[in-house]
Amino acid sequence: MATGSRASGNKAWADARAWVLDNGRRTGHEYLCAYNDRTWRAFGFHTDNSPDKVHLPHGLEQRALGGGSRVGIHHNHPNSSALTVVDIRNLAIYPSIYAIVAHAHDGSDYMAEAVEKGNILKELHAFESASLRILRNDPDAVRLNADGLLYKLRGHLLCSALEQANVIRYRFGLSRELDALYGSDRIVELIDRWLPLIVQSSTVTRR
Ligand SMILES: [Zn+2]
Repeated sequence: MATGSRASGNKAWADARAWVLDNGRRTGHEYLCAYNDRTWRAFGFHTDNSPDKVHLPHGLEQRALGGGSRVGIHHNHPNSSALTVVDIRNLAIYPSIYAIVAHAHDGSDYMAEAVEKGNILKELHAFESASLRILRNDPDAVRLNADGLLYKLRGHLLCSALEQANVIRYRFGLSRELDALYGSDRIVELIDRWLPLIVQSSTVTRR
């Protein structure tokens, strides 16, 4: 992570995580804050008082649109989903945003960083359609959905596929429960089957 000491970066990360999670768990709403990766100063604290969305406040959006300092965005996911298409889209739209971090209420953390600015929207769209197409037609995905598990795995699969194609850098730390689930034979088999299909199908779409 660019300049600034690692210790300051770790503290900024921990403070941002604590702020969005404490507020999120108290109210059930999404919260957002940003930090500058040079000064590690947090700013742009915001909520829309909604359980499933939070937009960039005007001041933060203006900064994110400028080409100056690099900005990391932290927010919480009350429903504990992984990063969403909307989250990844922010990496493409705002030149100064280099990292989007989602802190799930189940204790999992997800981070995406843009490898290359500019081309992400097109690739994101291709990967999103491929994953929708593949999951829609798979009986195992329908069963997973009925068990209430697909909404978590969907974003994780999308980000994993985008990383395999070198569109984003994807890092995550799963809660103990989710780690055990994703390590189970059932889910490992599904990820091993779906991930190559999504990457392959998106590659075809992009040509
Ligand atoms: Zn999000």
